[in-house]
Amino acid sequence: MHELGLLAEIVDKIEEVAKENKVTEIETLVLDVGEYSGVVPVYLEECFPAVIEGTLLEKTKLQLNIIKGKAFCHDCKKTFMIAGNEQNCPYCNSQNCEVIEGGEFVIKEIVAR
Ligand SMILES: [Zn+2]
Repeated sequence: MHELGLLAEIVDKIEEVAKENKVTEIETLVLDVGEYSGVVPVYLEECFPAVIEGTLLEKTKLQLNIIKGKAFCHDCKKTFMIAGNEQNCPYCNSQNCEVIEGGEFVIKEIVAR
């Protein structure tokens, strides 16, 4: 479960920024989690209480923004929503496709009190 390490890194980073800006309490942490980022939202939620314990984010609420997978087909130049594990182009059935959305795992927003 690599979610624990990822979250710990994020919490570290936020604590640092918060201290620099003299923020003492963070109300909500919003993360963008792509469906194809390899990060499992349920695991993030499970790890969160352990990761924030004893940190500045102890009372912070975690909010996850799930980003749907979207791909671009290099053959017919169309974009399409990825459904499940099927990443072939639904228009021309090409496999020459690139995931353009849904691979992200980033801090979207930090709501300070
Ligand atoms: Zn195509």
